[in-house]
Amino acid sequence: MSDQNPVFIPGPTNIPDRLRHAMNVQTSDHRAPNFVDLLAPLLDDLKKVFKTTTGTVITFPASGTGGWEAAITNTLSPGDKVLVARYGMFSHRWIDLCERHGLDVEVMECEWGTGAPAERFATRLAADTDHAVKAVLVTHNETATGVVSDIAAIRQAMDACAHPAMLYVDCVSSLGSMDFRMDEWGVDLAVSGSQKGFMLTTGMAIVGVSEKALAACETATCPRCFFDFRDMAGANAKGGYPYTPPIQLLFGLRESLDMLLGEGLENVYARHYRIAEGVRRAVAAWGMTLCAKTPDLYSDSVSAIYVPQGFDSTALTDFAFDEYGVSFGVGLGEMAGKAFRIGHLGSLTDVMALSGIAAIEMAMKDLGYPITLGSGVAAAQDYYRLTRKGATLKEAA
Ligand SMILES: *Cc1c(COP(=O)(O)O)cnc(C)c1O
Repeated sequence: MSDQNPVFIPGPTNIPDRLRHAMNVQTSDHRAPNFVDLLAPLLDDLKKVFKTTTGTVITFPASGTGGWEAAITNTLSPGDKVLVARYGMFSHRWIDLCERHGLDVEVMECEWGTGAPAERFATRLAADTDHAVKAVLVTHNETATGVVSDIAAIRQAMDACAHPAMLYVDCVSSLGSMDFRMDEWGVDLAVSGSQKGFMLTTGMAIVGVSEKALAACETATCPRCFFDFRDMAGANAKGGYPYTPPIQLLFGLRESLDMLLGEGLENVYARHYRIAEGVRRAVAAWGMTLCAKTPDLYSDSVSAIYVPQGFDSTALTDFAFDEYGVSFGVGLGEMAGKAFRIGHLGSLTDVMALSGIAAIEMAMKDLGYPITLGSGVAAAQDYYRLTRKGATLKEAA
């Protein structure tokens, strides 16, 4: 029966029944004249989620990592200088990908638990008077540490010195869960995937591409074929796909967009904040600390939580899985053994979140953690009770 439990990993996320049903369809012909009726509105609605009107959305059958590779290879050439801050496992993996493509990667090392350092970017870019830096890479939501970065501040740092570099943002674990504004923040490449905020199976990379980035395809010389934006954008413009699309996933995406846009993006963000805040109240009640250093860095899609000295976070997540049939995120990279993660994005309610908080609390108690059983659950219950739709001021007092 434990296969009925929700997962609390930050992707792939729980797939609501509505989306599972939408994907459970017979094959349909992607060369048929009516394929465009599915594809064209999908690409339009994706633009709403990215909050872009001037950009193009390009999808590939791939995971999010494929989206990174597409963003890099379509717009840059070997030897190009890129500036990137490392503050977690995902920003680290992006650096690795750039290095393997022969880019000249300049890394700003940052303490894990902090976010993209806007002032350091400002100083470095202002000093780059001959504009050697071609790209600035930022992970919006660092899933390893539960840290969200201020993309508007990075854009400001670039604009302050009128730097022409393009801005690349990994929004894999934030898009469709947390506020993201491609046009307003001047993002040139926004990389996401199907299995996080979109609540679908893994298998589609979803990339927002600005006009400037699309134009860069003409001069960029990194080798690419499967991921060539021009093939995909060209075929999409004619209502088709350059190769076989993951058709069931497209049907799922149709339904996912109906869910997200039907709920309203601002309501989706508010729901994520509320669920995340309940988790954070539980963490505080346990007397434990988040990896994210300050409240402005708290991610609403994942919380990374340090375990007390002398405890092993991997033993905790293994135990929760073995004994209670519930998955939590392990500590990644520098956080291995030191922190576990509660993923709280996608298809989740306050009631589901309480079950996760209760399960990890039991596992911690079983393993001798210095916590009071029920303390985290009660803190979250109080928060959810008092912030529910019909809560009155009298109850809150
Ligand atoms: C999940 C994730 C990715 C992509 O991972 P895939 O497994 O390739 O889909 C990239 N960046 C961040 C921040 C992520 O959370």
